[in-house]
Amino acid sequence: MPIFEYKCGDCGNEFDLLISNSDKENVRCPECLSTKVEQLLSLFNTGGKRASAAPLKCDTCSLSGG
Ligand SMILES: [Zn+2]
Repeated sequence: MPIFEYKCGDCGNEFDLLISNSDKENVRCPECLSTKVEQLLSLFNTGGKRASAAPLKCDTCSLSGG
């Protein structure tokens, strides 16, 4: 099941839920149980840029402190 991010419009709490499509209509804030929640954009971009996953490495810094 996909994970959806939500933000409570009542207390401003942000939370993510693992729910199915049928449960999307009955989302409640876990903090204040408010139904006034809005769905945030998904973390997965479609058709966007693809960032390189290469880790940054510092060559000028020496690991051994002196
Ligand atoms: Zn809330």
